[in-house]
Amino acid sequence: MIELKDVSYYYDMGKAPALEDVTITIPKGEFASIVGPNGGGKSTLIKLFLGLLEPTQGSVKLFGDAPRKTRYRVGYAPQQARVDFKFPINVMDVVLAGRFGASGGKTPRSLGRRLFGRFTKEDRERAIAALDKMGVAHLRGKSFGDLSGGQRQRVLIARALASDPELLVLDEPTNNVDPSSAEKFYSLLSDLHQNASILMASHDLGVVSQLVDSVVCVNRHVRIHPTSEFNGEMVRELYNSDVRLVRHDHRCSETGHTRCADEVCAHGEWRD
Ligand code: ADP
Ligand code: MG
Repeated sequence: MIELKDVSYYYDMGKAPALEDVTITIPKGEFASIVGPNGGGKSTLIKLFLGLLEPTQGSVKLFGDAPRKTRYRVGYAPQQARVDFKFPINVMDVVLAGRFGASGGKTPRSLGRRLFGRFTKEDRERAIAALDKMGVAHLRGKSFGDLSGGQRQRVLIARALASDPELLVLDEPTNNVDPSSAEKFYSLLSDLHQNASILMASHDLGVVSQLVDSVVCVNRHVRIHPTSEFNGEMVRELYNSDVRLVRHDHRCSETGHTRCADEVCAHGEWRD
């Protein structure tokens, strides 16, 4: 599904690359978590395999072809940045924009939609269904800029879901979401995984053992490990011992692991 060969990416040629010598393949059907410290290159990796950035060196394929040609098959929820949301756009329009990539994205009809911004009844129904899945259908008439961070996050994920993508790519989707909503969201993801591949950048390492098949570790270099291999040693190495970056698995507090508050839960909790 995704193939990177000898890929390096420099934002600035005078500085160290954001990613260096990355050679990975991710097969279709995979549910993988992309982990690593802030600034490690997770978002850069995602943008490379979606063709939003061109590699400085090396080659990138998505579904066996140039990402620009195939990314309509992907639903993507970008990391919430400090974007200025003051421009007036309502929630429904944000989600409908995700329908540009709906399957059959190369038919003349969808090209028409793309050019003229017209949406069908089906587009609207699918958009509302996606909002409903994220529990925010009631917000569809609101201005996107008036929403809370958590609500925006859900709307952006609904937008990614609206095209019924073969691959769902989520960049830190639970950053503004409270733990109980995150839990519900993860169970939604495991349902969605029955029909789609999922790649999710996340600091929530608790989710690793529960859901994902493999872990993509990104810290300028990239290594993929099956979940069964992923352990505390790797986390320490990956996060350069700065484990405060990692939100601990909430199950630790349930089981009374007092050390977990300031230390990554590296004692088997998510090794099983
Ligand atoms: P992550 O998503 O893991 O936090 P990023 O991929 O956002 O990491 O960033 C990787 C590195 O590239 C960081 O050093 C970051 O400062 C740098 N970087 C990211 N985006 C830009 C940009 N638009 N211009 C210059 N440097 C950038
Ligand atoms: Mg990022």
